Amino acid sequence: MQQPSSNRIGFVSLGCPKALVDSERILTQLRAEGYEIVPNYENANLVVVNTCGFIESAVNESLDAIGEAIAENGKVIVTGCLGAKKEVILDKHPNVLSVTGPQAYEEVVRAVHEHLPPSHDPFVSLVPPQGIKLTPRHYAYLKISEGCNHACTFCIIPSMRGKLKSRTIDEVMREAEKLKQAGVKELLVISQDTSAYGLDLKYEEKLWQNEIFKTQFFDLCRAMSKLGIWVRMHYVYPYKHVDDVIPLMTEGALLPYLDIPFQHASARILKLMKRPASSENNLERIKAWRKICPDLTIRSTFIVGFPGETEAEFAELLQFLRDAQLDRVGCFKYSPVEGAKANELPNPVPEEIKDERYRRFMEIQAEISSKRLQQKIGKTMQVLVDEIRESEEGDVAAIARSSADAPEIDGLVFIENPPASIKPGQFAMVKIIDADEYDLYAEVFEN
Ligand code: SF4
Repeated sequence: MQQPSSNRIGFVSLGCPKALVDSERILTQLRAEGYEIVPNYENANLVVVNTCGFIESAVNESLDAIGEAIAENGKVIVTGCLGAKKEVILDKHPNVLSVTGPQAYEEVVRAVHEHLPPSHDPFVSLVPPQGIKLTPRHYAYLKISEGCNHACTFCIIPSMRGKLKSRTIDEVMREAEKLKQAGVKELLVISQDTSAYGLDLKYEEKLWQNEIFKTQFFDLCRAMSKLGIWVRMHYVYPYKHVDDVIPLMTEGALLPYLDIPFQHASARILKLMKRPASSENNLERIKAWRKICPDLTIRSTFIVGFPGETEAEFAELLQFLRDAQLDRVGCFKYSPVEGAKANELPNPVPEEIKDERYRRFMEIQAEISSKRLQQKIGKTMQVLVDEIRESEEGDVAAIARSSADAPEIDGLVFIENPPASIKPGQFAMVKIIDADEYDLYAEVFEN
């Protein structure tokens, strides 16, 4: 009879997709060493909490999660972005066993070894070659670099994660291939600044599949497009060289999707934010992209209520929204992250004005989004099925996404009464029959 393992680890992963990739790497290593990952505190011999420290609410969520793990289990190792501020954690939770910062994979694993030595059982030490995914099996995040060379005044990531550090293109592509071989149908390429990929390596050339590729954004897109699976680009800045990848999207080699965090439209505010590409003519660029690739989906995020933002500057942002007709938009009210330079700027915007601007912003975007989705009614499109859901009444629906929908952050395509042959992780052709503000409703055309 198999003995229950005494090397069971509970893992709490908080924060953004980048933190999720960190968690996956740590889990891959621990599994490779024979640790068992368990989904609850009571069966775990130790708990690792991967924290987020991006905004105040994330800090509080992380501190609460650590507190819960200590109360429920007692043996807790903390890592991740908030780990860069060790004193904040130790002040509140002096009993944690170890605190390390972001991407400190080796240190986390070392701390685990110290407090729960590995058992070296060759049968449990095997790890699937693609690593342990925390996302469903059919999509995965692929991190191409760490850190950032910019100094946006509202952000503390460069001080927590350091300067841009890219992985070479052959290493990235090898991981992409492994993920594909493991059944991944959609890769989500992430980093702090995807368009700057390879700058730190002087765009070093590498061999992949008998072809030379530069460690650089365009060549990355070119190489990715050879995989024959969905590839989605996140955190791209609207630099001139991004124009070159749009034809790959038109050809269908890459998903026609760009996630570009514009953050604002007023030149003065963008300058105060010290945003990359702030002097680019974004509206012209969006128009030109759509001319080449009419199906292009553009997702973006914005900040309202940045210190000093006047009503006229906010109106400029609303006008940009109307003109740009972006497909997917997220909005944050400015929140003063400790250590961010923007906190020193004069004329902070009062909370009630931030709330009001947020509401006006979201109202306009909801109208735009709804109109854009209405235009999709009657069209046929390919979707990737994420899950099959059954209601208490026994009604079955498939929850899927189109090329316009990144997981977790965008909309969904609901397929009611799908054929029994439809399974999660499969592609299907559907016909759109209805739409609301954010989601589409479809029937299966072919699968
Ligand atoms: S580009 Fe700006 S917002 Fe993004 S990580 Fe770098 S400094 Fe932060």
